[in-house]
Amino acid sequence: MEELLHKYFGYTQFRPLQREIIEGVMNKKDSFVLMPTGGGKSLCFQLPALMLPGLTVVVSPLIALMKDQVDGLIASGVPAAFINSSLFQSDIDERMRAIKRGKIKLLYVAPERLVMPSFLAFLAEIPISLFAIDEAHCISEWGHDFRSEYRQLRILRKNFPDVPVMAMTATATQRVQQDILEQLKFGKTALRYKASFDRANLHYAVLPKEKQFVRLLQFLKGHKDEAGIIYCFSKKSTDALAAALCEKGFKALPYHAGLDAATRTKNQEKFVKDEIDIICATIAFGMGIDKSNVRFVVHYDLPKSIAGYYQETGRAGRDGLESDCLLFFSYGDKHKIEYFFTEIQNERELRVAQEELKSMLDYAESHSCRRKILLNYFGEHYPKENCGNCDNCMSRGASETIDATREAQMFLSCVARIDQRFGIKYVIDVLRGSEDQRILSNRHHDLSTYGIGKDKKVKYWQALAHELISNKYLVQDAANYNVLRLTPAAWEVMKGERKVEIRRIDETAGGSDSVASSRPSAQAAELPSGHKDLFEKLRALRKNIAEKHGMAPYMIFHDSSLRDMTVRLPKTKSEFLEVLGVGESKADKYGKLFLEEIAAYQREHSITKLNLPKASYIPPPESQTTLASFRLYKQGMSAADISSERKISLTSVMAHLEVYIASKEITDISAFVSEQKIAPIKAAFEKYGDAVLSPVMDALGKDGFTYEELRVVRAFLFAGRS
Ligand code: ADP
Ligand code: ZN
Repeated sequence: MEELLHKYFGYTQFRPLQREIIEGVMNKKDSFVLMPTGGGKSLCFQLPALMLPGLTVVVSPLIALMKDQVDGLIASGVPAAFINSSLFQSDIDERMRAIKRGKIKLLYVAPERLVMPSFLAFLAEIPISLFAIDEAHCISEWGHDFRSEYRQLRILRKNFPDVPVMAMTATATQRVQQDILEQLKFGKTALRYKASFDRANLHYAVLPKEKQFVRLLQFLKGHKDEAGIIYCFSKKSTDALAAALCEKGFKALPYHAGLDAATRTKNQEKFVKDEIDIICATIAFGMGIDKSNVRFVVHYDLPKSIAGYYQETGRAGRDGLESDCLLFFSYGDKHKIEYFFTEIQNERELRVAQEELKSMLDYAESHSCRRKILLNYFGEHYPKENCGNCDNCMSRGASETIDATREAQMFLSCVARIDQRFGIKYVIDVLRGSEDQRILSNRHHDLSTYGIGKDKKVKYWQALAHELISNKYLVQDAANYNVLRLTPAAWEVMKGERKVEIRRIDETAGGSDSVASSRPSAQAAELPSGHKDLFEKLRALRKNIAEKHGMAPYMIFHDSSLRDMTVRLPKTKSEFLEVLGVGESKADKYGKLFLEEIAAYQREHSITKLNLPKASYIPPPESQTTLASFRLYKQGMSAADISSERKISLTSVMAHLEVYIASKEITDISAFVSEQKIAPIKAAFEKYGDAVLSPVMDALGKDGFTYEELRVVRAFLFAGRS
């Protein structure tokens, strides 16, 4: 499996769960895969497709994407094809003949075609190894993308009872998951996987909306010539923002449902093909976007729910490089969204919408780790205190907390005195002694808290109120004009039993400012200028090649591959093969051109190989499944025992235990590799590096050694170093 992974895709390690999922498919099990956008779902059926004898049929609703996906696979040397309504009948016939002759391993089709009787009849004559259903949540009426054609996929069970089915989605709600399993009639033996939803390479930040355009320009300075999406609430603001950015010299275009289909497609294509950098879009945009080098996603207005927000930001950084997710926030947006709630008739639906908006507000207002909040929404516990990659975590320490117990007591007791019947603005008015008619007629100017907060600005009290809300001293009743209600913790504060610490409130700036705008972009941050120049040259070359072949640039190489080229400066084909994401087929097809470009650049500029991220081994992370194996190991089971107990391969078991060898929880490796083999393996790692195993194996001569042994020794050496 590792060899194929490198040969076709140019990757050296599986992402979490990929190996297990692939093994499950190879054992003909049905599987349900829940992974965030960019988590690496495609590989889970693409690699099995190469190993299995028959055809793998991929069902995808995204006709617009199929060509790019298939182009990318063909560039990687994978015999793939798509059949959809964009093709002439003669092309379709030709492809069907190729499939019959066994020339195609992976076929992409839309669900409506798949369930056509004539197409089913065609498939019935072909050995099929796997059905992979992408965007499987489209099958559920509870999901946000329900498609009636997906419902009919149940027919697969009836017509192909022995062919395993893999259903994949990034949508997390329990109800949708359950629905997918039921609709597809997954039995008890079906395997279910849930990957962590954490996207470690995404940086999250929130900025206030004041001086929004200026702030945006500042932010974009850190993303010069990089691709990004800016989501806006309305079609009109989308157009206006794109125009304003063009005026400032950016290459930006709008995308929304108000444009005619041809313009929409054209704008999207220009973005995908790197002809423009920025697309200003309503949420109508994105479903069909697989572009891997999106370096930032900005929300110019508040999204309606975290589910949507997470999916949209998920479009950034699919290639694993650092990317930015920036949200602009003001309370005005909340009201704009609520305004549309008046159109919702169904009460249950209304409640869901209100709850969703509330979680979104909690996110925007919070001073704790953004990542923690996002993952918490998906029912996942984020274990670290400080994620190190969100505005709040990065500014923590830098910004001090202060004791605001006294002011909090003033605010909370004011809420109590007015019987928890009013919202933030009213409370502040009372505190600051406003002579507003409402206050006078409610006789609230007689309260003891009236006017006691005069010496602080409105901004201060607003900020404090939101601190109190985000720290759960107060809740806003969304169903009831956002009236403030006290929690038990609030009473403890008023009784003096509890102190309130908040971040220092800057009355002049109004809200928290973030480091996002000053954070240099990933490539600029790490590459010296000469290398950055070369990176741009390689990008231009990639674009040229893509144009010639009518392909999307990122299907030739991801940015991460180009970046790795500038770091390694390969001179030979075999060095080129060491570049991340370069498999044999791409090396054959494009190697020469890229090597020439790199050599030409080096003749004119003196740059040298950077030895900074010389890819070296990083142990895989701990997960539920690694832990399950480790527990059995601790009970005294051998790797073979664990393998039969858990019904997973020995390779998987070793990949699990490797985690604990690397973390020194397993210190004795004599059960996995014999003493006299360690020295030669170690020597080979020293000579060939430890990122990729196949050259090390080649050097050792395959016979005497197994990949498992190499992995064990590698982890063991890692443990010794750390
Ligand atoms: P998803 O379908 O889950 O949104 P993709 O399958 O498109 O995600 O994968 C996201 C990105 O990760 C792609 O650019 C893919 O090439 C890359 N990728 C997948 N598996 C690996 C791996 N094992 N190592 C490195 N990159 C990977
Ligand atoms: Zn954080």
